[in-house]
Amino acid sequence: MREQTSVPVPMGLCRRCVRRLSHYVSDLPGVVSLEVEAARGRLSVTGKVDRAALLSARDRASCRL
Ligand SMILES: [Zn+2]
Repeated sequence: MREQTSVPVPMGLCRRCVRRLSHYVSDLPGVVSLEVEAARGRLSVTGKVDRAALLSARDRASCRL
């Protein structure tokens, strides 16, 4: 079964944050693939992941929050 979770990220997240966020999120259990859409302000993850863990990874990665 394919599950997808999306959480908002700051619009126009800088490249450094995108890299860091990708790194953090790819380390979370259950992540199959992920996509950071900085221009749209969205992080989408495929796989069975904990939403709270995603939000926590986002908060750790972003220099704009
Ligand atoms: Zn940044």
